[in-house]
Amino acid sequence: MKPLPDDRGYFGPYGGRFVPETLMAPLEELERAWQSARRDRTFRRELDTLLATYCGRPTPLSFAARLSDNLGGARVFLKREDLCHTGAHKINNAVGQCLLARRMGKVRVIAETGAGQHGVATATAAALFGLRCRVYMGTEDERRQALNVYRMKLLGAEVVGVDAGTKTLKDAINEALRDWVTNVATTHYVLGSVLGPHPYPAMVRDFQSVIGAEALLQVRRQHGSLPRLVVACVGGGSNAAGIFGAFVPYKQVELVGVEAGGRGTGLGDHAARFSGGAPGVLHGTRTYVLQDQNGQVAGTHSVSAGLDYPAVGPEHALWHDNRRVGYVRVSDDEALDAFHLLAELEGIVPALETAHALAFVTHVARRYAKGDGILVNLSGRGDKDVNEVARLEGVRL
Ligand SMILES: *Cc1c(COP(=O)(O)O)cnc(C)c1O
Repeated sequence: MKPLPDDRGYFGPYGGRFVPETLMAPLEELERAWQSARRDRTFRRELDTLLATYCGRPTPLSFAARLSDNLGGARVFLKREDLCHTGAHKINNAVGQCLLARRMGKVRVIAETGAGQHGVATATAAALFGLRCRVYMGTEDERRQALNVYRMKLLGAEVVGVDAGTKTLKDAINEALRDWVTNVATTHYVLGSVLGPHPYPAMVRDFQSVIGAEALLQVRRQHGSLPRLVVACVGGGSNAAGIFGAFVPYKQVELVGVEAGGRGTGLGDHAARFSGGAPGVLHGTRTYVLQDQNGQVAGTHSVSAGLDYPAVGPEHALWHDNRRVGYVRVSDDEALDAFHLLAELEGIVPALETAHALAFVTHVARRYAKGDGILVNLSGRGDKDVNEVARLEGVRL
């Protein structure tokens, strides 16, 4: 079987390149540059060196002994992407794309950001390579993630607030695409997840595949066999694609992606695309989209800015349809409980996004035998969320 996507960027019926004429040439240029870079040993060696000496890879795999005991079943292992430089898996992709941008002769990068993590990662990589950087961010997200806004500015980036629509990630992507159309000669658009038009979903997945490659070796070494279950939260789906990729060929390993169930099942109250959405096109790719009866993109809600997006990566849409990956939803309240649980039992404050994956594990761990392994992608650390959690819980800081 040929690896996906196909030459036109399709994962089965999903993916593709639904963009205005003006973006076709830059996307083709990007695809050619990426195809050439990934085959170039010098590029790969330089990327591997940066991942090791700058980003902090390989990240450890931690056995969560007290959490496992508390859940009374399987042995839970945490893939520690929270220990990456800048605190989440986003840096793997940002460093890769900025290295590619420099190779393409671009002097400026732009990015969208939701939780602020991708903006911080891109601003960081831009500083490392001496590229000018502008980050688009919904003003609602700016409020929720004020610390990350200041971090980006410290890193020399310009942060542009987007006041349109729901003032969140989807609106920031619209603005970034608009900027890219206008400035494509000098500018590379560092897209932050496995979203958007081809080649982004495949390219971002490939930059994140290091997570699964490491975790597969580590879990075999530390647990002695493959895990029974691998769990990751799914915003756009990059940390999940990064860890799932290595395990997809092993049919005996169950894979579960966790979406934001928000505050209820009504349209607008969550970001669970697979239980509440239908196939459609958003931001240049065909995938599951939350939409109303007229096909208008719906509003979303999640306590975690990084999961608060109405579409999902097209490869996840295919995995959903062919049932290779199961997708479940976890509510805001369940995620907040898991946030506290991991902090108290393991001394790790997870990102609220990650807390969704952990909440699912707390629900199902008992169903597994004592010796079974469960691998969770700990996509990021929760320092960025401490203020928001305190506010939600009525704690005055
Ligand atoms: C951005 C982010 C996510 C969601 O993005 P994916 O592309 O779905 O991985 C999840 N966890 C953390 C910590 C993030 O910063």
